[in-house]
Amino acid sequence: MKKITIIIPAYNEEESLPLLYERLEELMKKMDNYEFEILFVNDGSKDKTLEEIKQMREKDQRICYVDFSRNFGKEVAMIAGLDYATGDCAIFLDADLQDPPELIPELVKYWEEGYDDVYAKRRTRKGETWLKKFTSKMYYRVLQHLTNVEIQEDTGDFRLLDRRCINALKKMRETQRNTKSMYSWIGYKKKEVLYDRDPRAAGKTKWSYAKLIDLAIDGITSFTTSPLRLSTFLAIPTFVVLAIYFIYVIAKTFVVHEAIQAYQAIILLILFFSGVQILLFGIVGEYLGRIFNETKNRPLYLVNEYNGKKEMNDDLGDDKVEK
Ligand code: UDP
Ligand code: MG
Repeated sequence: MKKITIIIPAYNEEESLPLLYERLEELMKKMDNYEFEILFVNDGSKDKTLEEIKQMREKDQRICYVDFSRNFGKEVAMIAGLDYATGDCAIFLDADLQDPPELIPELVKYWEEGYDDVYAKRRTRKGETWLKKFTSKMYYRVLQHLTNVEIQEDTGDFRLLDRRCINALKKMRETQRNTKSMYSWIGYKKKEVLYDRDPRAAGKTKWSYAKLIDLAIDGITSFTTSPLRLSTFLAIPTFVVLAIYFIYVIAKTFVVHEAIQAYQAIILLILFFSGVQILLFGIVGEYLGRIFNETKNRPLYLVNEYNGKKEMNDDLGDDKVEK
């Protein structure tokens, strides 16, 4: 029997948990041809979330939990979930029931058809302000323009990952985690499922705009080093202006026989040295970008099949990992 791990990051979710368990229990009853593991990651909750989980575990042994020493954030909670998951596949689910568990059978169906990464795409988002929807849309646009990897728009973390995706993600230990870009990076056979995102069942969102802006900047800076190129690109117009002005001044000297004025010499010097400085910044940026990519220590590649056999990535030895 195949085992499905449902990973639920929870931060101050005591109100949602009973509702969540009810819905999950129903789901597990329906899908009785699978074994289940419900893995909570308690992300340093300050309310009774942990007690609630412990109580549930007493009644139902399928419930497991990892309890963080403090709040580490959802991204870290998710990788911890992958580390502790024992299933053949894992599904991320929000504790607040914004991702309907009823969609899980459909995700599993595609998994059985051979897809490795089945992600749920939001058709609608109920109970969210237009500002949040708008900013989220713009953010995807910008990210897409900055990178060459295809980014899935309007997808949250609600997705099913096959064991080999789990193993691949576990190899990526960077501390500034931006999971969204990682899903794109690992590749594998992906399948999209549409769903309507519900409003929160109870409690409040943990995201403030400040946190979202953090996330957005993290997303861009962890996805690409192209902002570092900005310097290199700025150097070019500076030198172009310098060249034009230089020709103008020289021409004036020889054609009109007018001596070079002090202010003209100063402008030329300023243009020259700021151009040089910007260029040097760009060079430093290029190296910094390389260091940035190397320190991520990602595997160099991930194999889909070897001689017709699906590669699980669990034997990605140190020799195969980028050092
Ligand atoms: N969460 C977490 N750690 C945090 C913030 C959030 O584990 O620091 C969990 C939270 O309990 C929920 C999920 O991440 O299960 C999504 O959070 P939330 O509903 O607040 O975000 P939104 O749905 O508004 O984007
Ligand atoms: Mg939510």
